[in-house]
Amino acid sequence: MKTSQTVLYTLRDPPADAVIASHQLMMRAGLIKKLANGLYAYMPFGLRSFRKVENIIREELDRAGCFEIKPTVIVPGDLWKESGRWETMGGEMLRVKTRGGQDMVVSPTAEEAFTYLFKDSITSYKQLPVIPYQINTKYRDEIRPRYGVMRGREFVMMDAYSFDADQKSLDESYEKLSKAYRRIFKRLGLTTIPVKADTGAMGGSGSEEFMVESTVGDNTLILCPKCGYAANVEKASCKPDIATDVNGEPQIKTEKPIEKVFCPGVETIKLMETFFKMPGRQFIKVLIYKVFNSSLDLQNAPGGKTFKREMENTARPYYPVSFFAVAIRGDLDVSETKLASVLKASGAELASENEVIEYSGAPHGFVGPVGLTKLPLLADESVMIMRDDGKFDVCIHDTVTGGGEKDFDNMHVEPGRDFIPFMTADVRIVKEGDCCPECGQKLYTKKGNELGHIFKLGTKYTKAMNAVYLDINGKQQTMLMGCYGIGLDRTLASIIEEHHDKDGIIWTMSTAPYQVVIVPIKYEGDMKEAADRIYDDLVAAKVEVLLDDRNERPGVKFKDMDLIGIPIRIVVGEKNLPEVEIKLRSESESRLVSLKDASKIAAATVHAELAKLNA
Ligand code: ATP
Ligand code: MG
Repeated sequence: MKTSQTVLYTLRDPPADAVIASHQLMMRAGLIKKLANGLYAYMPFGLRSFRKVENIIREELDRAGCFEIKPTVIVPGDLWKESGRWETMGGEMLRVKTRGGQDMVVSPTAEEAFTYLFKDSITSYKQLPVIPYQINTKYRDEIRPRYGVMRGREFVMMDAYSFDADQKSLDESYEKLSKAYRRIFKRLGLTTIPVKADTGAMGGSGSEEFMVESTVGDNTLILCPKCGYAANVEKASCKPDIATDVNGEPQIKTEKPIEKVFCPGVETIKLMETFFKMPGRQFIKVLIYKVFNSSLDLQNAPGGKTFKREMENTARPYYPVSFFAVAIRGDLDVSETKLASVLKASGAELASENEVIEYSGAPHGFVGPVGLTKLPLLADESVMIMRDDGKFDVCIHDTVTGGGEKDFDNMHVEPGRDFIPFMTADVRIVKEGDCCPECGQKLYTKKGNELGHIFKLGTKYTKAMNAVYLDINGKQQTMLMGCYGIGLDRTLASIIEEHHDKDGIIWTMSTAPYQVVIVPIKYEGDMKEAADRIYDDLVAAKVEVLLDDRNERPGVKFKDMDLIGIPIRIVVGEKNLPEVEIKLRSESESRLVSLKDASKIAAATVHAELAKLNA
């Protein structure tokens, strides 16, 4: 390709809304152009890199035994009504109506479409497992599209869906994709951190997210420096720690009865610390949560019978709305994601002030764990842990809690003696310095961005959409499903985040729009002849080469090519001929080689670099 045949358009300064390196550089190098907020067009150089990412993903999925199909982007709303997500998806999903009045969805993801497409063509266990995938446009009406293509509204996702006969087969499909992902990111030259992730209400049996470290990352990763434990904070757990008293000594059980203390206005843990002269870790705070669509059985829980239970047209009865009190050590916070997950719910949020009073009898800040009758109490494992034999291990003693009445707290509260929770679970937000759940080492945190996700869905969609097969005994069974996604745009931007310097992008060899650029100081006479010769040789050697034949000052061409980030640059100047200068974008030094060897050396570098990434 010659630059004169394409549009090469670079900017000296990034647009004002571009704050991260990849967004700035993609705009400055002319790889993308903005059509509207969250909508970016790929220009010729950008598209070439995008296609490279796409092809690497395709090659690795095909190698793993997956196959590609091409569904439509617009799918009938009826499929989403069948799965139940027409109601639950919220504003991110773009819904449109045809002129005939039919509801349509612009795919934000495609579990429904894939289940629909394969449920009739698979009838027997003999046809399983299969892993179809697509690399296709998605639309999500993100509230805050930002960072260029990192979080766009329209983007391209590779989404694969495995259909399996049983759990063992699903585990194998999941493992295949997990391996394929690792190869994909390695070939792209990206350093990813796979972390354990939340599996949501359906409590699937496994979920991993592939993260890249990023200062603007939307995710907090909890990492162990010793054993490699890695989890999204939404999922992370830690070793329960031994509660200590003011002097750092383990707390001991009290024999003293509860003592009611008048403490007007002492509503927060901070105020309690001053008032009682004790650290927050000696208190228990109790929060009231409003919980959505929990499918726990609350029939025997306090207040359980007062919550409306949905029994009809559903495989599992659930409570559209229920309330829970959550008791946790005073210095800790509740993770709403972990809470929703243990309550098998679609979400949980702090109850309103009126609801808090209605269900606990006290205003927020004075709610206690003692004497709650209108709702179930969940104790975090920082308070107590229910063992298999039904007994409790108490983790905090002689504590201060809300008194269940405005302006009163209770002292000498003993968990297990003064209150018994309906259930115990780990719902705390794990923080830097907490102890690794596997090896006990102190955990640390990083910010990260999710590039890909693998998830064992189980029968969530296949049950709702009746995707069944006949097993070896001729018995009808529901297929198991897994889903697997990689965002191409975000992956591309992340490559730039990891590989750039002050002058521009430094593409990895596997993702560069062109592998080599030839820059003649002037495209005329001997220089033209030499440049053309190298160009022809490289084309013959199947190297992707760009010839910068623009009538521009050499400095301008060098700057542009550094910005665009072509890995190898060959400069043809009159004074050096019959030698030419060869320079790697990633290095500062150039060297002179003979004209006749230049193409061979460049081609060998390209192949060596690719071999390293593909190994
Ligand atoms: P996030 O938490 O970042 O919103 P998600 O959990 O919604 O991600 P998934 O539904 O798992 O993402 O989608 C799979 C992949 O699609 C993500 O890992 C990401 O690479 C990509 N992706 C999701 N939303 C966007 C977006 N708005 N713009 C670009 N890529 C996206
Ligand atoms: Mg999202």
